[in-house]
Amino acid sequence: MNQITLPAVAKSFYTFCKKCDAERYHTVLTHKSPTSAKVQCEVCKGIKTYSLPKEGAVAKKTASGAAKKPSKSRKPTHADDFQALTTNRSADKAIPFSIKTKFELNQKIDHSTFGMGYVKSVQPDRIQVLFESEIKTLMHNKV
Ligand SMILES: [Zn+2]
Repeated sequence: MNQITLPAVAKSFYTFCKKCDAERYHTVLTHKSPTSAKVQCEVCKGIKTYSLPKEGAVAKKTASGAAKKPSKSRKPTHADDFQALTTNRSADKAIPFSIKTKFELNQKIDHSTFGMGYVKSVQPDRIQVLFESEIKTLMHNKV
């Protein structure tokens, strides 16, 4: 392993100074990025940016950019719900829908118009029923 890191802030390190045209000690003033720092020559007091030589660590490409695939963000629709319920509840007996019947949550019903459905929510006078193509609000419990 040959990981090159920047010298710590306030530390001195030896590098070439263009102004002095010689190798000089430079004091690290601040880190600008993980690979570059603002440094000051201890002789001419010239401030410059020192960058790490690009090798080793940089060659290791971050896979995140290239491998960005659009994720399957398809929302499960009520059709999926219906499919799952149909599979899971195939043994349930469907109750023929009638406005006079009082339905309960999760009951399987058989509607003359909409077909097979499942009660998703119940209020005193209405129910929400998941049918294959849509969710319907139906009256029930009418005397
Ligand atoms: Zn210098």
